[in-house]
Amino acid sequence: MHWLIKNFIRQRNYPNFELKAVFFDMDGILFDSMPFHAEAWVKAMNDFDLPFSLHDAYMNEGRTGGSTIDEMFLKKYNLTSDQQTKQKIYAKKSDYFNQYSTGLKPIDDVFELLKILKNKGLQIFVVTGSAQVSLLDTLDRHFPDIFEREKMITAFDVKIGKPAPEPYLMALSKAGVEAWQAAVVENAPLGIRSAVTAGLFTIGINTGILKTEELENEGANIILPNMKSLIERLDGLFF
Ligand code: CA
Repeated sequence: MHWLIKNFIRQRNYPNFELKAVFFDMDGILFDSMPFHAEAWVKAMNDFDLPFSLHDAYMNEGRTGGSTIDEMFLKKYNLTSDQQTKQKIYAKKSDYFNQYSTGLKPIDDVFELLKILKNKGLQIFVVTGSAQVSLLDTLDRHFPDIFEREKMITAFDVKIGKPAPEPYLMALSKAGVEAWQAAVVENAPLGIRSAVTAGLFTIGINTGILKTEELENEGANIILPNMKSLIERLDGLFF
């Protein structure tokens, strides 16, 4: 057993570790979509005179749109946004995203990783704050035969969303496994916080512009630079 897994079991006081399910975040993990989201957020916020940087976009990644807008309102005005302004800003952000994201591509090597895990008989989930209506179609187009409708947690399923543990706790319950039988692949500090708070073994893949420490600070069990290095470590870690 890998020492990282041994540490994880000891720290959490779990009876064992036996991988049965892997929960994938979407933006920045399955799709290389974060550069487009970040640009779109910066433009939309600035259109409404709210200061917002690319770094802010990556630090807030994983929050729902409404909660991201509230955070920035709190910073500037010390109160949350009204519903109408929130919807306007979010609509603007979605417009920009749709303009920018025409060349959306999967993250390098993630399809290979998904196929390896699927072939091992593991349950594969997507756990995302995204509110795309045709998400499964998009996933099927890029990653055929990996995802299933009942193995998805999206913005439509949750009340609070990341960074609360709620989405990952829901994934555990839907998968019918314990916290010591699943692992999470996340790229964002708040996504990592959500997974760690849910008690899961959390793999941070730093696919964005943040410093490794900014992911480490949220308690990920391991941080890797890309999917290829995770594929190379799979056997030592889990199998
Ligand atoms: Ca993400």
